Amino acid sequence: MWQVTAVAETEPVSANPDDDAADDPAIWYNETNPEASLILGSDKKKGLDVFSLDGKRLKTFEVGRINNVDLRQGLPWDSLTIDIVGGSNRSTNGMTFWSVSGDTSFLRPLGNFPTSMPDVYGFCMYKSPKNGMAYAFVNSKTGKVEQWRLRMDGDSLKIDLVRSLQLVGQVEGMVADDSLSTLFVGVEDEGVYVFDAEENGSTEGKFLEDSGMNNPQIKADIEGLAIYYAAGEQGYLIVSSQGNYSYAIFERSGNYRYLGSFEIKDGSIDGVEETDGLEVSHHSFGAMYPSGVFICQDGYNYEGETKVAQNFKMVKWEDIEQGLKQGVLSK
Ligand code: CA
Ligand code: CA
Ligand code: CA
Ligand code: CA
Ligand code: CA
Repeated sequence: MWQVTAVAETEPVSANPDDDAADDPAIWYNETNPEASLILGSDKKKGLDVFSLDGKRLKTFEVGRINNVDLRQGLPWDSLTIDIVGGSNRSTNGMTFWSVSGDTSFLRPLGNFPTSMPDVYGFCMYKSPKNGMAYAFVNSKTGKVEQWRLRMDGDSLKIDLVRSLQLVGQVEGMVADDSLSTLFVGVEDEGVYVFDAEENGSTEGKFLEDSGMNNPQIKADIEGLAIYYAAGEQGYLIVSSQGNYSYAIFERSGNYRYLGSFEIKDGSIDGVEETDGLEVSHHSFGAMYPSGVFICQDGYNYEGETKVAQNFKMVKWEDIEQGLKQGVLSK
C-alpha cells in the first residue's frame, strides 16, 4: 500500500482525548485568495468548527451534534451567487445550513430544517448540471436517503423533499458528482452503491463490485467518500476503509475500477487511524497544495506520546497522485 504523511493538521476539537467527536470535513475554496480558503469540520458532540487552511480554529458554531458537513459554491441567488454549507444535525434530526459570503469568509446561519426521518446520519450536497439546482442528500441508519431541493427566497433558505431512496443496511458516507450526476452511498459493512443523483432519475442503485469486502484491501466500515475531479469523466472516488486505516481509490466513472489504496503514516505529524469523514479538492491552494488537498478525520490524534482530542489531517494531493502514477498504491 502506498504511504504518505500529513503536512498539516487542524487544532484538536474541544472534546476529551477519548471522545469520538471530530467526524467530517468540507473545504470552502476562496477563489480570489486560495490560501485563505477554509476547512469546515463537524464536531459531533457540539457543532461545526471553522479552521483556516493551516489548521487554526477561527470559530465554533455550537448548534448541536453535526455529523457530516458539505457545501456547494456559486449557486444562483437573484442576479448574484451564493455559497451554502449544510450539515446533518443529530440533536434536531434535521439539517443546519449556513451561507458564506464572498471574500469575508463569514458564515451566516440560515437555520435548522427538519427532515422526515427519526434519526439523521450521513449528509452531502449536490448541484445538478442539468437544472442548476442545489440539493441536500441526508440519510438515516435504517438505509433511507432523502433528497431535498434547496432554493433561496430573498435572504431565507427554503427546502423541499423531492424523493427518497432505500438501501439495505447501515449507511452514512455519501458524495455526489456535479458533472456526471451520480450519487455514491456507502453501506458500512458492504461497500459503495451508485445512483442517478437527479430528482427524476432512477431510484435503483448499482453496486460497485470492486468496493466490496471481497477486495482484500478494504475492511469495514466504509466511511467517508469524496471525489477528486479531473478533465471530462476522469478523476477519482476516494473511500475511507476504516477497518484497516486506509483509503481506497476508484475511477470516478465507467466501471468504477479499483486503482489502489494508500495510508497516512507517522511523519513530523502523527499518522491517521480509523478515519470517519474525508474530503478532497482539485483546486490549487497556493505553494503548499498546488494540485489540491486531501483532508481526513484522525481517530487517534497524538502530540508526541500524548493522546489529545481528535482532529483533521491535511495531505498534499501530489503525494497521493505520485502513488497513482506509479501504479503502486495497492502493492
Ligand atoms: Ca469515529
Ligand atoms: Ca463532508
Ligand atoms: Ca459510521
Ligand atoms: Ca493519528
Ligand atoms: Ca497531532
